[in-house]
Amino acid sequence: MKILLLDIETSLNKCWTFSLFKAYIPPKQIIEPQRVLCWAAKWLGDDTVFYRNWNHKDHITKIHELLDKADAVIHFNGKAFDVQHLNREFLLNEMEPPSPFSDIDLLQTVRKRFKFPSNKLEWVTVELGYEGKIQNRGVQLWIDCQEGKRAAWQEMKEYNIRDITELEPIYYRLLPWIQSHPNYGHWVEVCDQDDRVCSKCGSTNIRKNGLERRTLVPYQRYRCKDCGSPLKGRIKVCNTPKPTTRAA
Ligand SMILES: [Zn+2]
Repeated sequence: MKILLLDIETSLNKCWTFSLFKAYIPPKQIIEPQRVLCWAAKWLGDDTVFYRNWNHKDHITKIHELLDKADAVIHFNGKAFDVQHLNREFLLNEMEPPSPFSDIDLLQTVRKRFKFPSNKLEWVTVELGYEGKIQNRGVQLWIDCQEGKRAAWQEMKEYNIRDITELEPIYYRLLPWIQSHPNYGHWVEVCDQDDRVCSKCGSTNIRKNGLERRTLVPYQRYRCKDCGSPLKGRIKVCNTPKPTTRAA
């Protein structure tokens, strides 16, 4: 399974406005609409990081090419943000939609499975013991990039790439907790019915881990020794003696 890590940065809308405080700005006052300023991406398990900004000729075509090859894409809130911004660019550039891929949105897992004081990537990475995002000058960095300042672009590139390289270890830490992950079993050839493949990482290094008795008929449980994911067998376990209760 080809899994792509993705993070984009968007530009600021450039607008006319009378009011400075809590202004409603109608779309006709937009001078330059928001665009994908830059993006960084890498294949899971590969060292090469791809980066483009809007000064590159293949800014949009390169990310389209990568997404088209991906079976799944890891991002942090990318389903509602990164992917939709890119889709708009593809449409505006009269490009076809990339081939369908599965979204692995780590923000969804952080929100659903844990109670951090903040669900922001910056907070979660530091709590988990990683370096965290590169601190930047805030909105001024975006303005400087849009005004074409070379040093600002370098700063933005480092910031964008760090987000991608931090996302990879976070993905591995969260992997056993991800509930809707594309199934590696669809990509791995299994010769024997007894061969078990971890649906999360494709490993065959798994062990039996008791029975799941949440239904009338129990199922075999497994645990992946590589990624730590709990797994449920597909076949019901028959003729299993029910746990005995001690006689009074
Ligand atoms: Zn696994």
